[in-house]
Amino acid sequence: MKFSSMFLYTMKEVPREAEVISHKLMLRAGMIKKLASGIYSYLPYGLKALRRVETIIREEMNAAGAQEVLLPGVQPSELWKESGRWNVYGKELLRLIDRKGGEFALGPTHEEVITDIVRDQIHSYKELPVNLYQIQTKFRDEIRPRFGIMRAREFIMKDAYSFDADDRGAEKSYEAMYRAYERIFSRCGLKFKAVEADSGPIGGNFSHEFMVLAETGEDVILSCSSCKYAANLEKAEIAKPASLAFQDAPAGTFERVHTPGARTVEEVCEFLGVEPRNLVKTLIYTSDKGVFAALVRGDHEVNEAKLRRVLGCDALELADEATIEKHTSAPRGFAGPVGLSIRMIADSALMEAGPYVVGGNLEDHHLKNVWLSRDVAAVTLDDIRDARQGDPCPRCAAGSLEAIRGIEVGHVFKLGTKYSQAMNAMFLDENGVLQPMIMGCYGIGVGRVVAAAIEQHADEAGMTLPVSIAPYPVMVLPINVTAGDVMETATAIYNELQRQGIETILDDRDVRPGVKFMDADLLGVPYRITVGAKGLKEGIVEVKERSTGTVEKVSPQEIVAYCSARLSGRNNY
Ligand code: ATP
Ligand code: MG
Repeated sequence: MKFSSMFLYTMKEVPREAEVISHKLMLRAGMIKKLASGIYSYLPYGLKALRRVETIIREEMNAAGAQEVLLPGVQPSELWKESGRWNVYGKELLRLIDRKGGEFALGPTHEEVITDIVRDQIHSYKELPVNLYQIQTKFRDEIRPRFGIMRAREFIMKDAYSFDADDRGAEKSYEAMYRAYERIFSRCGLKFKAVEADSGPIGGNFSHEFMVLAETGEDVILSCSSCKYAANLEKAEIAKPASLAFQDAPAGTFERVHTPGARTVEEVCEFLGVEPRNLVKTLIYTSDKGVFAALVRGDHEVNEAKLRRVLGCDALELADEATIEKHTSAPRGFAGPVGLSIRMIADSALMEAGPYVVGGNLEDHHLKNVWLSRDVAAVTLDDIRDARQGDPCPRCAAGSLEAIRGIEVGHVFKLGTKYSQAMNAMFLDENGVLQPMIMGCYGIGVGRVVAAAIEQHADEAGMTLPVSIAPYPVMVLPINVTAGDVMETATAIYNELQRQGIETILDDRDVRPGVKFMDADLLGVPYRITVGAKGLKEGIVEVKERSTGTVEKVSPQEIVAYCSARLSGRNNY
């Protein structure tokens, strides 16, 4: 395409609202435009990159035996009530009322819709397995949309759902998707790692996330220094101690101390001159299994996904001020386990040492010299904290965990029979017995893949896009459009590239060469062919590879063959 007729507006200045490199570059390269918080339009250059990723996804999904469908974005509440998620999905679900008073939601995911379709169509084991996927717009009312399309409220997802007759089949479906994801992300030019993950509100019993390694990633991955274990922070286990029991405590008693205004770990530590590791944080939670307290060391963080698993609850939230007051007789900041009559779960790291400083269940008071084994009634011990750098590996004796950051681009879940049972998706097995279908679901954030690829492929000057997802793999850049032979040669090269199916930009703008070079770098075009009067006199044009910066001189007659040789085998272009 000719640059002069492209709907493409680049900008030099770095937009202030953008924190990460991909967001900055996508705005500067005119790929996306914000409409409202977490809601973006794709402009032509951005959409082309998105379509490249979609094509790779479609090819690999089809090759893995999945079939494409397109499901509605608006979903009736009845289905969500059947699955039991209408009341537990929370505020990310944007709910709507139609003119007749019917309740609907903007689909954040499509387990219910697809299960409803499959249960109506499939009745026998002979029709299984089946895997259906779509590439479609999701809406999640994210609490903190940020980083542009990386964490948006409206975003495009590829979601696939598999239905199998038995566990072995379900394993195979999962495996096939896992392999397809490895191919998809490799073809997109990403450095990634598959890690064990928590299933969250989608449910199910097993899952892996595909993480693109990037320092700006929102996710923390813990990976073992010596074995293959890797998990996201929500899921990462910590090697279990040999036995779960508190250390014996000396005889004696605790001491109540006045700590006016000291509520946070830092404030209390400073006031009493103790280290955070000698303090117990007591957090009061409400859940569908009642109110309870979670206890962790002052220098540790509660892991709510682990807490959910320990309690077997779905909904879990930090208690509000009134609930805290009711159970601790004190405002927020002074809760402690001594004398507390609600259920208590303590993190296993707390059994290692004592004595501790704890909240006094009285405004402006804490207790010193507390031994949990001596001074606190019934406490359950379990792993309820976030793992961190240096913790022992849960799988091998030798290793310890290293913390790295990543961007979650894909997620594969074994759902089991959670939805098929709740929504009655049954089939007759070989013996004529009615059985629930065994499901899996598999998501990829398509826009997030584009953003993650930019995050990994960028330098000070702009994007360094991999050929497989670059909107235009080649740009022809005539230095001076008014010089007849320069423009003539550039146009001839451009026409021939286009004829060979290589999508090319011809920068036909009558602007300073510096402006053109800057745009070419910003846009991340993998190969830039510069045509200038001086070079033509020597019988050459210059071709620069954006990712490496290497420049080669090639004759105008050979440049098209040169490009197609470079691009072939680099996926679709
Ligand atoms: P996250 O932990 O990042 O919120 P999730 O676990 O909620 O992700 P899934 O429900 O597994 O995400 O969705 C499948 C994929 O959709 C994710 O792997 C991610 O790539 C993408 N995705 C999820 N939420 C968003 C969002 N708000 N904006 C863009 N992409 C998203
Ligand atoms: Mg989410």
